[in-house]
Amino acid sequence: MPIYYESRKTLATQAAARWRNTYFVRNGEEWGNTKNGNTHPVYIKLLKLGKNPNPDDVDEVIGNESWTRLTCDNCNKEINEGVWIGEHLDYESRTTMACVKCLQEGINTITNKGENNE
Ligand SMILES: [Zn+2]
Repeated sequence: MPIYYESRKTLATQAAARWRNTYFVRNGEEWGNTKNGNTHPVYIKLLKLGKNPNPDDVDEVIGNESWTRLTCDNCNKEINEGVWIGEHLDYESRTTMACVKCLQEGINTITNKGENNE
């Protein structure tokens, strides 16, 4: 399976389209609501950020960081960029987000044939 690059920046770039996919109810041709109200005004604000928005601006419009947050599945740190490894990303897929530091540690472990493992 290909290894896919992901970053807070790419998540920010996709945020408006993902917001629409999540909250626009196709059959009813209407926008859904969250506890913060109707989702359409947020979509309009996301579009106004342009095609290459700053992730922090997306967070501000949405009101939280969940749409641009990226976390390494190995070290659990919030990261700016990393790669998806494993099955094609889906709800129940076996897919892992890995940061540069953890990938490098993995390469070192292979290079050392695991001899430095604790
Ligand atoms: Zn990591």
